[in-house]
Order: sequence, then C-alpha cells, then structure tokens
Amino acid sequence: MRLAVLGIMHETNTFSNVPTDDRVFEESTIGNGPGILLGDRVWEVWGDSGITVAGYKDADAEPGVQVVPVGWATTNTGGKLPTSTFDRIVAGQLARLEAEGPFDGILLGQHGAMVVEGYPDGDAEFIRRVRAAVGPRVPIGNVMDTHGNVSPAQVHGVDVTLLWRTNPHMDCRDRGLQCARLIAQTIRGEIQPVQAIVNPPLVANILAQNTADEPMRGLLAQALELTAATPGLLDASIGEGFPYGDVPHMGMALVAVADRDISLAERVARTLARRTWELREAFDPRGVSVADAVRLERGDAAGPIVLLDCGDNMGAGTPGDSTFILDGLLRERRTGWLLTVHDPEAVLACVAAGVGGNVQLMVGGKIDGLHGTPQPITGRVRTLADGKFKAHDARVHAGHKEFDGGTTAVVQTDGGGTVVLTTLPVMTMSLDQHYSIGINPARFDLVVTKGVMSPQPAYGVIASRMVYVDTPGISTANPRFLGHQHRRRPMFPFEQDTEWS
Ligand SMILES: [Zn+2]
Repeated sequence: MRLAVLGIMHETNTFSNVPTDDRVFEESTIGNGPGILLGDRVWEVWGDSGITVAGYKDADAEPGVQVVPVGWATTNTGGKLPTSTFDRIVAGQLARLEAEGPFDGILLGQHGAMVVEGYPDGDAEFIRRVRAAVGPRVPIGNVMDTHGNVSPAQVHGVDVTLLWRTNPHMDCRDRGLQCARLIAQTIRGEIQPVQAIVNPPLVANILAQNTADEPMRGLLAQALELTAATPGLLDASIGEGFPYGDVPHMGMALVAVADRDISLAERVARTLARRTWELREAFDPRGVSVADAVRLERGDAAGPIVLLDCGDNMGAGTPGDSTFILDGLLRERRTGWLLTVHDPEAVLACVAAGVGGNVQLMVGGKIDGLHGTPQPITGRVRTLADGKFKAHDARVHAGHKEFDGGTTAVVQTDGGGTVVLTTLPVMTMSLDQHYSIGINPARFDLVVTKGVMSPQPAYGVIASRMVYVDTPGISTANPRFLGHQHRRRPMFPFEQDTEWS
C-alpha cells in the first residue's frame, strides 16, 4: 500500500501583529532552511528528527507499506497566515498528491492551532481540501500537537486523530508511527476506526500544560489506563488548548478513537472530559512576579536557576525581544545572569565594534511594542558567530535538531551580566545555543529563557530549579489579560462561575 504524507504544522498566535506570510515560511528558523518542502526534501530535513513526519517515515520500513513524502510545511509560531500563503502551500501539496497518486491512505502532520485569514479553523480547512481531493473512501490519519485547539471539524474530517501525549513534546515521532499503523490496519480492513470529541468550556493555562506535573500527569495516566484496559478502544488523547488563538474552538478537547463502536468512543471522551472539568481549578495556576524572580539566589545549588519568560514564549509566537526581566535584573543590579535577546540592530552595532570592542546599546523591546521598552547596556563584545547550531542535547522539545539564530553577538555587560544578541528569532531550547558560542550556561546564577515548555527538556539537565515568571506579553501566562473577542462564553477560567455537565 502507498501512503502520502502532507500537512501544514503551524501554531498561530492571533494576538501577534506579525502575519505568518511567505517570507516567514521562507526564513523559518526551525528545520535548517525554508519551511515549505515538497517531495524527498521533507525526509532530508525532517526524516531524522523527533517530529510526527519522522514517525511516518519509520512506517515505510513496515512490510508492504510505502510512505511517500508529498509535501510538508512548518515555520515559527506567529500571527495569522494570509489566505494567499495558505492557498499557495495547499495547492502545491495537492498538485503533487495528484501527480504522484493514487494513494491508499493519507497521513497528515498538523498542529491544530492554525488560523488563516478567513478561516478561523485553518486545520479544518486544510483537512477539508485534502478530503475533497482524495474523496470519502481513502482513510486519513492526522497527528497534532498536545496543545492545539482541536475542533469537531478537524476530527470528523479524518478517520484517525491522535494528539502528541507529552508536553514538552517527546513522543511526536512515536505518535506518527502509531497513526501510520492504524491507517495501514484500516486499509487492510483489520479495524474500522470511529471517533468522538468532547470540548468542555475550559482552557488549560500554559503553566498547567506540563504533562509531567499535575493535573495533566494524572489525567494522562487515566487516558493511558483506559486505552490499555478497554477492548476496542484504539486511542484516547487529551488536547490542552491554545489560549493564544482567539477562535470559537479555543480550549481543551478530549478525543477517543474506537474500533467500530461509536458509543464506546463517546463514552471514553465524555469520561475524560468530566474528569478534566472536575480539575479545572488546577488548570489555572499563577507564576512568580519579575520583582520576586530577579531576587532569587542560587546559593550552593548545583545548577543555575532558570527563569522561564512566560510573556515572551517564542514557541507561542512572541518576538523574543522582551525586556521585562532584563529591566528587573538591571534595577536589582544583579550579576551572574545570562539572557538571550532577538535584536538585529544591536547585533549590527556589535559587528561594527568588533570582538573586544566596547558598545553602548539599547537592547530589545523594539519589534512589536508589546514586550517592554529598549534597555540600556554598556559592555564589551566577547564573541561574534554565525548563529547556526545543531542540538546535541539528549532531550530537545519536539526533537528539533538544526537552528539558525543568524549573526549572533555575545556582550559582557559592565554590570556583570551576559547578553546573547541574535539576528533571527531563534528559540531557546538547546544548550548548544550557548556551547556553540563559548558559553557554559551552568556557571551562571540566573539563566533567562524565552519559553515556557520548550526550554525545559534541555535546561532541566543543568537547572537547580525552573521558575515560571509572570511577564506581560502576547503569550502571558494569565489568559484573562489577552482580551479574547471570539472565544466561547461562558468559559473557565474567564468566567469563574461557568457551569457544564
Ligand atoms: Zn507544541
């Protein structure tokens, strides 16, 4: 049998004012090069990674299964996709699907939080077009992120929906292989998958999305137990929701896949949804204020304190140039801190000064006016580098390997801090970002990362503790501050007295 791999994996932050247009796909800083790929390029770039499509490639080794990479696109999280960008990517993939077809089954690698101008549920629109192209009889499997906004339209547009189970994401490739196997079994007539989804009026705060911590840990354990113990239940997934998508289907989702028995799928999705709802207070925790975070002392601890800048969570589509924590460190006159800022202008000034040169800079807070104001630093340029690095960490969120921060400068500040300035908005989720420019992050007292979940696998190896810092920004950890216009009402935690059964 021949299976085709397609998809657009995009996490859209609708509060971002930077559209995810052709240029953003072209200049993707994840995946070593342009983000829109066709044919074997998909395998070349992603076949050895930890992401869903690598699991699809693994299925190619199964007896009688041929998996063909038709096309796959991804890029950094950002604002909505213009319709023209979306149309162009889909048309490219569908033209190739037709040229290389026919196929017995389709494997999609979506995120589940894509928003396109004119299509609030971008993933459902993508699925609709694929389904229209292949017809109703070709089985389609789709694997999505743990924290997308999963809708009934997405689920019912395909035959099998699996979500990654871990956040930070460590099982994406496994879930890809699992989905491919279910679709192969469907084609052979061994199973007949049916699906159910329940969307309780609730979204999990990003601080409550780590699947290694409660309440997600217990909920996930229940889903796994149910799957293992229930004959005929093929899979159960927990969607955490993506608060930064201002769309009607924003929120948590419970998805179950059963063999032939729709009432079983419905019962399982319902059971998990009820448990989720009971836990709702635990899905709404608070972080630590900047003022308290910058006063934390490492003391005799074996590793640095890692501050997770929640309002500038680059994985959620922020610019990576927030200065709220930098401002706090400067006010507190802290020494021994390490912080990364996306600031092409400051990099240019460092290049002009050269290695060893003295610089006077206004750093960060320049890109969208939503993440603090530029902060004054003076110091010496310690290093200049091309900013490309490969992750050698044993554990990296979503299995990413290749990174490109563009020209990068390291400035030793006169006040005793270290600032890494990047030209491109590269995510801070690999220690190799620092090793590649001669920095050992383990030596610092405070290390600031621009992310919430994504830095944790890598930085967890050196950190004595990790602290969620409650900074403002378009990825603020407090969803009440975002000002949604299109979400369902009432909904928890926005309306605390929301009722649901
Ligand atoms: Zn994710």
